[in-house]
Amino acid sequence: MTTGSNGILRIALGRIALVMCGLLPSLALAAEPVVLCPGQVVYPSPDGRVLGHIPYPEVPASDLVTAPRGFAIGLPCQVQRDVLPDLTRLLAAAAAAPGVGPRLRAVSCFRSIAHQRSVFCSQIGPHRKCRDAAERARSVGPPGHSEHATGYAIDFGIRPEAGCGDVNPCMAMTPTGQWLLAHAREFGFELSFPAGNAQGVTWEPWHWRWVGTAVTAPGAVKARLAFTRARTNFPASPGINDVSDYWLIPPRSVIAPPSVAPATSPFISLPPSP
Ligand SMILES: [Zn+2]
Repeated sequence: MTTGSNGILRIALGRIALVMCGLLPSLALAAEPVVLCPGQVVYPSPDGRVLGHIPYPEVPASDLVTAPRGFAIGLPCQVQRDVLPDLTRLLAAAAAAPGVGPRLRAVSCFRSIAHQRSVFCSQIGPHRKCRDAAERARSVGPPGHSEHATGYAIDFGIRPEAGCGDVNPCMAMTPTGQWLLAHAREFGFELSFPAGNAQGVTWEPWHWRWVGTAVTAPGAVKARLAFTRARTNFPASPGINDVSDYWLIPPRSVIAPPSVAPATSPFISLPPSP
């Protein structure tokens, strides 16, 4: 038996004891625990979310293409093939806009689930940004629960930084951030995590997901299906509200309503393995 499975067994036994003592609802036993990082084990909410985040599969590598040259700041920016035409148009429009110019860049695009685990776990623990997975999940999706795995999400950045660092809410106050808020929808992008979102995720004016300008746009149905749960229960803002895609949204009774508080989902944190 591995250290991880030992940890899960300990947690399960502990939860059974808590349920027997009446301290936890029996429903909590139904979900399987998820090991996010060493010592960080969480229980999904009854609706399948982990610390407020919706699960997403990883896009096949064959569906990814590399974004235009000079767009990525660090690692090459890969996106779903269907995103590229609108992204190219958006970058051209941004480059021509006064005050925005060629400074719109990509901080992060597609991230594999393995890479997401590295990003998520690297800042948890003593002397790091976050004390546990719940705190980290306020601003970063847990592995397997990030829009970046779909290849449709882009974290935009500005170069030079002009007084506002990457992945910082101050981006919304910059001319570039203002331009995105005003025009990104014209290119099929919507803001996944607006201020005060019910998911409990930090306001991220840099994180945009592509769903196409209209449901008839090539690839838009596929993208909108990938984000059905998010768009139904936690609408983007600015969002793309295309009434013609109402048929992609299942009845509310099919999707669990956002009645379970995010980030306060039952979770147990274990000390890191030696
Ligand atoms: Zn992002």
